[in-house]
Amino acid sequence: MAEVWDELLGQPEAIELLTKALSNKEAGVHHAWLFTGPAGSGRSLMARAFAAALQCEKAGCGDCQQCSLAMANAHPDINLLATERVQISIDEVRTLVSRSASSSSMGNYRIAIIEDADRMTERTSNVLLKALEEPERDTIWMLCAPSVADLLPTIRSRTRNVVLRLPSAEEVAQLLVQRDGVDHELAINSARQAQNHVGMARRLATSQEARARRTETLRELSSITNLSKAMIAAEHLLSVAKRDAQALSEERDGSERENLMKAYGLSKDDKLPPNLRAEFKALEENQKGAAPERFVMASTESSPMPSPFIET
Ligand SMILES: [Zn+2]
Repeated sequence: MAEVWDELLGQPEAIELLTKALSNKEAGVHHAWLFTGPAGSGRSLMARAFAAALQCEKAGCGDCQQCSLAMANAHPDINLLATERVQISIDEVRTLVSRSASSSSMGNYRIAIIEDADRMTERTSNVLLKALEEPERDTIWMLCAPSVADLLPTIRSRTRNVVLRLPSAEEVAQLLVQRDGVDHELAINSARQAQNHVGMARRLATSQEARARRTETLRELSSITNLSKAMIAAEHLLSVAKRDAQALSEERDGSERENLMKAYGLSKDDKLPPNLRAEFKALEENQKGAAPERFVMASTESSPMPSPFIET
C-alpha cells in the first residue's frame, strides 16, 4: 500500500474507495469529496493524503516531491482552509474559490481542502455551492466534517462521501509500538486514555511531561467537592490544556518543517540554501496563523480527561 496512507489507522474501506478513484484517473476524478468521521478519525489527514496521491505520479508513494510537499502542507496547488474560529468567514471561502480557479503550477490538479466545513453559515455555503455546481477543469474540492448532516443537502448531493471511523485502541497501540518503539503496555494504556485519538495517544506514550499533565488533571478533578473548588479547578484545567496545546503545536511545526526539508532533499540539520528561504518563511507564517487555540479546542473536545462523575 502506498505510503501516504500509512498513518491512517483502521480505514481500509475509505482507502480502497480512494485508491479505486486514483486508478481511474484517466477517466476523470469526481470533483468534490466529503470526508466524515468523529474527531480523531483523521478526516483532514485523509484528505491531505488523497490530495498528495492525486498529485503524485505513483498514486501516493510518500517519497516524491509532490507527496512530501503535500504532506508538509506546502504544496503550491493544494490550498487548505483551516479555522480556529467558530465560523469560517465568507471572504475566506471566496478567496479559496478564486484560487481554485487559477491554473495549477506544478501538480496535475488544483486542490482545495476545507477542514471543519460544518462551520459555514448558509450564506457562505452558497458561495461554495456555486463553485461545486460549475466545477473548474482539474479542480478538486475536499470537505471535512463530523457527519453529512452537518452540511446543506445541496452541498452534500454534489460530493462523494468517504466515511471514516475511530480506530480501535489496539490499532492505535500497534502503531505506537511499530513506529515509535513504545512498549505495548504503555501503548495500549495511552490509547485507552486518549480515547483512541492517535495524536493524543502518541503524546501520552512518548512524553513524560504529557503524562504528568494528565496526572495533574486527574488529581484536580478528584478534588472537586463544591462549586468554588470547581471554579478554581476549571481555571487551572484551562491552563493545563493550553500548555498541552502549545506542546502539540510545537511538535507539529517541527515535523512540518522536517517534511518540507525532506521535500527538497535536505536533512533536518542542513543549512537552508538562500533560494528556499522564502518557502520556509511562508511555512512559518502559516504556522503562526494556525494558532495553538485550535488544539486547545481539539484537546478538550475529545480530551482524555474523564468526567469527575464517572469512575475511572
Ligand atoms: Zn509520490
